Amino acid sequence: MNKRRLLERFLEYARIDTTAREGAGCYPSSPGQLELGRLLVEQLGQLGIDDARQDDYGIVLGTVPPTTDRPTPVIALCAHLDTSAETPGKDVRPQVIENYGGGDLILPGKPDRVIRQADNPELAELLGKTIITSDGTTLLGADDKAGLAVIVETVAWLSEHTEIEHGPLRICFTCDEEIGHGTDHLDLKQIDAVACYTLDGPGSNGVDVETFSADMATVTVSGINIHPSIAKDRMVNALRVVADLMGRLPRGLSPETTDGRDGFMHPYEIGGGVGEVKLQVLLRDFDAARLDQQARLLRGAARESMAQFPGSKVEVSVARQYRNMAEGLSAEPRAVEYAQRALQRLGRTAELTTVRGGTDGSRLTELGLPTPNLSTGQHNPHSAEEWACLEEMVEAAELLVSLSEVWAGK
Ligand SMILES: [Zn+2]
Repeated sequence: MNKRRLLERFLEYARIDTTAREGAGCYPSSPGQLELGRLLVEQLGQLGIDDARQDDYGIVLGTVPPTTDRPTPVIALCAHLDTSAETPGKDVRPQVIENYGGGDLILPGKPDRVIRQADNPELAELLGKTIITSDGTTLLGADDKAGLAVIVETVAWLSEHTEIEHGPLRICFTCDEEIGHGTDHLDLKQIDAVACYTLDGPGSNGVDVETFSADMATVTVSGINIHPSIAKDRMVNALRVVADLMGRLPRGLSPETTDGRDGFMHPYEIGGGVGEVKLQVLLRDFDAARLDQQARLLRGAARESMAQFPGSKVEVSVARQYRNMAEGLSAEPRAVEYAQRALQRLGRTAELTTVRGGTDGSRLTELGLPTPNLSTGQHNPHSAEEWACLEEMVEAAELLVSLSEVWAGK
């Protein structure tokens, strides 16, 4: 792999603000995603991808033509253009630390914010490697610009090494994954592949084969607003009702207090005033049946709060988001098996992992396109302490080359 060029690509993509915006009212939710998409179409075109295009929704598609005459299944490689809104993504100033010597990483734009080695045990394994961070005032966006850079560099490498035998590779860059809309406008007929891989995982050698199942609950609290001077016995403050309701949610069922295979209920956004408050609560579990239990718990809390505040109204609606990919993957066992074999050919061992979240792959798998998620060297996503390891990105690109050979029967 051309490590230098992979780094340049990554830095170029990281500098474009592609923050996804919940409630933007348009698709994609931010213009930067279209800008980055245009750049990628141009780059893919220069690499000989004649059908590289950006569709009406900003989704980038293209096909690496096969180098073998043998009939070989189409596989798809997917990454997302947007970054999380949880940390600012504008004016990202990446810091490249070559030959990492160990210890904490100081972030130059915010010297009191430190990426501590103690909190990031993976760093100890990466002495001498190239580590990339933001300056501490923004996220880095390796989630998922590492995935984009890895895929584009793989395409470049294959275009320079036509002796490598592979079948058709469908390239797909999606928008608004971070706000749960990565696959809304994706046309699976256009992708037309037997399996797909999202390049959106942490570290190296990971093959995510299981994700959360996810629903989103919206709690709408209606109060009665009236001028405070005449409020006695008349006002019902929706803010107090929602505070009461939040106090009823079990603390032991939150992301802060759970890990491993335990699910959680996560109140993550709130807005409103005395008259009305809207609260959104993420419901998450590996077992989809438990999401119903969580919804019942939330509705129970809503009833109790309403009883405490006569005159208030609390409504809970639940929308399905995505489902654990494990079930869908069993329909095409080669998707995971070949990833394991491709790693083995490189002298590496696949780590089959579960994700406490979802990826575009969860939804694609549910729609019938088996889509495990692969490592791309990202760490601490969605945070100002996000970092990435260049050598792990190189490893991801090497895996893609090997994987395309395995699918071609090598
Ligand atoms: Zn991601």
